[in-house]
Amino acid sequence: MPDPARTRMDALRLVRPELLDLLGYEPIEPVDVLAEELGLPADQIVKLDGNENPYGPSPRVKDALADFDLYHIYPDPEQRRVRQALAGYLGLDSEHIVVGNGSDELLELIACLFLSAGDVAVNCVPTFGMYAFVCEIRGARVVEVPRREDFSLDVAAVQEAARGGAKVVFIASPNNPSGNIISAAELEALLSTGVLVVVDEAYVEFSDRSFVGLVPQQDNLIVLRTFSKWAGLAGLRAGYGAFPKGIAALMRKVKMPYNMNVAAQVAILASLEDREMLQQRVQAIVRERERLSEELAAVPFLRGFPSEANFILYRSQGIDASELWRRLRQQGIFVRHFDTPGVRDCIRITVGKPEHTDRLLAALKEIGGSLAP
Ligand SMILES: *Cc1c(COP(=O)(O)O)cnc(C)c1O
Repeated sequence: MPDPARTRMDALRLVRPELLDLLGYEPIEPVDVLAEELGLPADQIVKLDGNENPYGPSPRVKDALADFDLYHIYPDPEQRRVRQALAGYLGLDSEHIVVGNGSDELLELIACLFLSAGDVAVNCVPTFGMYAFVCEIRGARVVEVPRREDFSLDVAAVQEAARGGAKVVFIASPNNPSGNIISAAELEALLSTGVLVVVDEAYVEFSDRSFVGLVPQQDNLIVLRTFSKWAGLAGLRAGYGAFPKGIAALMRKVKMPYNMNVAAQVAILASLEDREMLQQRVQAIVRERERLSEELAAVPFLRGFPSEANFILYRSQGIDASELWRRLRQQGIFVRHFDTPGVRDCIRITVGKPEHTDRLLAALKEIGGSLAP
């Protein structure tokens, strides 16, 4: 019998060395874990930290999942029905479409398809942490181009990085965590460098500016989308993207054949059939975003940034952002605090239902009262 401790050591020695001290993606904690930690019932928790949809999925999704009777059969590896439905939704040919286990999986597949060890990708920080994560796992090098003070892109700096030999540029529009979008002129300037531009439109339904219609005319533009935010399917993992046809075919070739489970496929089809109702909820969230923004404009220790997504970024002044985060948490209100350059003194608040905004306002009032001289 080999000594088990020794075998473990030996196997660890075989791991790709660059992965041994990878920082990893920092996920948010699940509600039940948070509730238990605070000793609060789960329904007392106001979860405004994950940009999830407070209304949940369409009721038609629940019915369709209950009625579906082919859970024992493997899904279509080509995902034809779902891609056809998405093609109709986007007004594009289904040959452009690839679906994934969340758009996160598509990011991973893009890195798989384009980035060998040592290749360069450009990341416009602060932004979604997944871009750097998928690159690092591949051993690719991430060049960070900081956004300006108002979080707009430094287009000239991105162009310079792109022309310096980068293969891929990742842009979220609206950007997470800042909520701002890129303009058509900015996108055009990036596409003209010839680098592959990945525009992540995870929050596009809350804004009114999508670039997905440009995909058929461009050979270096990818637009990623998801059902996680607008359609309330974050837990089911339902992402998709529009790609140039040749790249889409390669993406479908390198993906795992059954990468999207049947439940996610059923849920996508049911959501698209109920999209009018889902869009009404999106409108309710947008109205609530405007109310949150107006109410919080009166809070002296917070300065908000204009957002076209389902969250708003705030810079704290006169109180440490981590202290603010901690004090909201004590009251069962969870927001996201950042600890990265450019947003160190910031919290990001997901737009919830009106009653969530009310709880947040009451908590901020109390915190404000305790700060008064
Ligand atoms: C939430 C988020 C995603 C994740 O989408 P999934 O489809 O749930 O994997 C992608 N991009 C950005 C910018 C996000 O904030």
